Amino acid sequence: MHIRKLFRFEAAHVVRECTSRHCRENIHGHSYVVEVIISSDTLDRGYMVMDFVLLDKVKALVDRFDHSYSLWRGEDAGMKAFVYRYNRRVVEMPVSPSAEGYALLFFFLVDKILREAECKNGEGNVQLHSVRVHETVTGYAEAFREDLALVDFTPDDVLFSSAILDDEQAPSP
Ligand SMILES: [Zn+2]
Repeated sequence: MHIRKLFRFEAAHVVRECTSRHCRENIHGHSYVVEVIISSDTLDRGYMVMDFVLLDKVKALVDRFDHSYSLWRGEDAGMKAFVYRYNRRVVEMPVSPSAEGYALLFFFLVDKILREAECKNGEGNVQLHSVRVHETVTGYAEAFREDLALVDFTPDDVLFSSAILDDEQAPSP
């Protein structure tokens, strides 16, 4: 059985080296929708795959990207300096911030969160099935476990600006 939990965030980016000049040469933003799809072949005592309360850390992760600039680490020094100078909330990413890049990054990070989740209600073989990232209402990218073969980074390669970490303690208005 599959369950799906939806998260949202608003963020800005440039997707360098993509085909469209619109996307590769203009800072612009999207209202992202992230679907986390989880599977299990058995149910817990509450007749659930798992309670969504166990995904609180996934929400906290996605919230870190909200109202942020997604900065690809491959940007040149001038662009990086500009982004950090004029933005409080910056996520520096080891992958380009395309929908595919986000889907891969979120699959990688959510999979780690899920493995560490404390399932104590008789949950069965709970697995992250896939992560979909919708960049627009008409298109999404979906990452599956086999796509982890594309991962050439570690969690430490995802850099959250100090303002993002500070906001976690006391969200700014
Ligand atoms: Zn875009």
